[in-house]
Amino acid sequence: MGAARLREMAPAGAFGAAGPGLSLTLRIGFEFLRPLHEESVKAMNDRTKAALKECAVQFVDKSGFSRLIKPFFAGCGAILGFHRVLPEGTEVCTPGHVIGVNQLRAALAFARRSGWRFIALDEIPDRLSSKSRERFLALTLDDGYLDNLVHGAPVFEEFDAPFALFPYTNALDRAGIDFWMLLQALLLSVDSLQVDHPAHGRQVFETRTMQSKRDAVEVLFHLSGPREATYQAVLAASARAGLPMEAILDRDFLSWDQLRTLAANPRVTIGVHTVSHANLAALSDEGCYREISEAKARLESRLGTRVRHIAYPFGSPSNCRKREFDYARELGFVTGVTTTRGNVFPRHSESLLTLPRHLISGVKHSADIKYLRMSLNGVWDTPLNNKIVRKMQI
Ligand SMILES: [Zn+2]
Repeated sequence: MGAARLREMAPAGAFGAAGPGLSLTLRIGFEFLRPLHEESVKAMNDRTKAALKECAVQFVDKSGFSRLIKPFFAGCGAILGFHRVLPEGTEVCTPGHVIGVNQLRAALAFARRSGWRFIALDEIPDRLSSKSRERFLALTLDDGYLDNLVHGAPVFEEFDAPFALFPYTNALDRAGIDFWMLLQALLLSVDSLQVDHPAHGRQVFETRTMQSKRDAVEVLFHLSGPREATYQAVLAASARAGLPMEAILDRDFLSWDQLRTLAANPRVTIGVHTVSHANLAALSDEGCYREISEAKARLESRLGTRVRHIAYPFGSPSNCRKREFDYARELGFVTGVTTTRGNVFPRHSESLLTLPRHLISGVKHSADIKYLRMSLNGVWDTPLNNKIVRKMQI
């Protein structure tokens, strides 16, 4: 039922008597509740979806609902997950993995202003068993990008905020790069690319514009046939284009020396993100165990310190399950962070290896203060999440 129809049914003055603020809130609410049927949500085009998402976020924030649920659903803390930290306006193929320096500063300022205390991952177990009413926020960065040191660390320092880095060791060793990350870095840097594929033959991509770069990434990433064959073909194309894998890794990813510099800072925690950034659930038992255990051993031997935390690559329930959590336990990890959205509650002391996280980036609202407030106040942990918000795929 549409907002207009509801207005017709309501007694005269019902929407205006309590002031324009309530009227607007109710109207936004009705617009938000209208498209609840999953089938109709699927049929919406992207622009409509984006408008509805914005509407939903506005409604949850402006209606006061977000603040209302805080005492019940904010839990004792939350973990934020970032990937890249870059100056605003930096062109990248995947903005969904980037937060701007000023956006990060604004997010941390908001969190501090709102009374959230920044803590290290190591402190989480004690926090969960303590009676402290002060809510905590732990900050994590995945994949080991160089910009974490150059642009991220100074902002975290500014706020005296501990943070955890989860690099994958192949990148540190300059021994391999995740396929998606290779495509992003390569296509961003070339105006055309010729890929000689064993099954698909010669493919030529003109990549002068950002859209054409993104299109080429999509095509290559989803090319049929074995992923390894496409990966090797792109690696060869990358070298022919004057940008071999090692050059990309040197340009965009932390080296061991840089990681050691960061690790020497008492505010910094280093954790495991596997050897090759593998989708662990797709591997054999032996392969999965090796990805975790070898990365842990490598980090510990190169850094000379115990590594007690893991971030599962990709991190959704389809990428890491009981087996991965069991291996993490067996290998002595203290915490494991996923990408399931939600806050941290006392009950998580029983499941420290499957902690939820809020992934934050400069797109999809997530770095907006109103979205951050909504997330930290616990909207993902309410029944509303399952019934409505998840269907909206906000
Ligand atoms: Zn990752």
